[in-house]
Amino acid sequence: MGEHYDYDLFTIGLGSGGTRASRVAAAHGARVAAAEEYRVGGTCVIRGCVPKKMLVYGAQFAEDLEDATHFGWTVEGKSFDWVKLRDHVMRDVGRIEGIYTETLEKHDVTLFHERAEITGDHQITLASGKVVTAKYILLATGARPHVPDFKGHEHVITSNEAFHLDKVPECILILGGGYIANEFAGIFNEFGAQVVIAQRSDTILRHYDFAMRDRLMQLSLSKGIEFLFNTQIEEVVKQEDGMFEVRFKDKEPRHFDCVMAATGRVPNIEGLGLDTVGVKTGERGQIKVDEFSKTNVDYIYAVGDVTDRVQLTPVAIREGQAFADSVFGDKEPYAVDHTCIPSAVFSHPPIAAVGLNEREAKDKYGQVAVYTSDFRPMKNVVADRNERSLIKMICDGASGKILGIAMIGPDAPEIMQAAAVAVKAGMNKADFDATTAIHPTVAEELVLLR
Ligand code: NDP
Repeated sequence: MGEHYDYDLFTIGLGSGGTRASRVAAAHGARVAAAEEYRVGGTCVIRGCVPKKMLVYGAQFAEDLEDATHFGWTVEGKSFDWVKLRDHVMRDVGRIEGIYTETLEKHDVTLFHERAEITGDHQITLASGKVVTAKYILLATGARPHVPDFKGHEHVITSNEAFHLDKVPECILILGGGYIANEFAGIFNEFGAQVVIAQRSDTILRHYDFAMRDRLMQLSLSKGIEFLFNTQIEEVVKQEDGMFEVRFKDKEPRHFDCVMAATGRVPNIEGLGLDTVGVKTGERGQIKVDEFSKTNVDYIYAVGDVTDRVQLTPVAIREGQAFADSVFGDKEPYAVDHTCIPSAVFSHPPIAAVGLNEREAKDKYGQVAVYTSDFRPMKNVVADRNERSLIKMICDGASGKILGIAMIGPDAPEIMQAAAVAVKAGMNKADFDATTAIHPTVAEELVLLR
């Protein structure tokens, strides 16, 4: 292919997008090399979705063990060992990292475990000083947590460090009201921490349907999570006893043994040599790409969080796959469809959604029909857990086409993955109505909405 280059493709960053692209390009016959300065697997595998979900499972036992007594079980001497869970999680992360590495090696992808920088046209220089050339370069360096710039911000941890704590904090302040804030609030709360969320605006999870947000807030409050809205931090001061005094604008100071920022993520573009070859970036620091993930430089592409299109692992994987198929495969080039992407927040309980929320649907379609089911799942009834689930289906008032579905409750992400197929396929509520329920399940509510 690019015989006068050392490689056909050089990938920088081996997270979900970079790994998929490298493996698929190699399977298409390309000579591929890739550099990763940290651990193969990137945010999702090493310090994101995967270990987080394991902690969510661990946290859920707090409620399940409590509920078990209502189902006749006696659970004596229950206790929780954070270090044991943390170490089990990290061991599994290492196992998955090994699988990722093995897959790349099996496809003859040459791996460089070091930093790489573009230092000229088609040229990459590795931290060791080795210089290689490639016909195509793929930038898949992901994003990192953003920490607001207040005094004492160096005392603040992010989700990167949360997985490695020596103990569960006794009282933790979490900044932000998005995915990570609500997921870790649930995790730490179930493990017995006193959790306070401080959000700069007046709402959490602003892109989700307001009814789901309200329900999560209400349930989180009932579980003891505290919310401070319209709150900004001025300073974090470390005390002699190791605690942190957090000074707010317009609020009395409070003390915590841990402060965590979950205030968005910024693309990793520093030290990549973008200026050397003139790769353009946007105002959020993201690498600008077209629908085929191509930058303004003809042979340089970018996928995943570094492009800040949709910061979700499955999206990065699709972008990596499409890039590799389009550039190295024998199919016509194709673009990833970024519409109707299902998503979930693994809070306690989780939220999941696909398509438009009610507000977006009204703005776009005017007349919409909204069907809601607000119910207490059978398991919660027996457990005497006063926790109601909520399902909402939003349809085009004229055609009945489903524009969006949102849900909060146990297993919402599992249920939504299946429902998303129908929404993506453009089905109508009548198609759901024509489907027989599986009884008794939570998911049957979807086909019984009136
Ligand atoms: P989110 O974008 O979800 O939320 C960021 C939060 O921080 C918002 O509440 C925002 O407030 C607030 N915020 C943003 N900037 C500042 C600032 N400068 N000062 C104070 N507050 C600020 O980001 P996360 O960090 O939670 O997660 C990053 C991304 O990672 C997510 O957007 C998502 O794409 C992905 N992710 C996905 C998960 C999943 O799929 N389950 C889990 C975890 C992460 P406001 O609402 O006012 O803008």
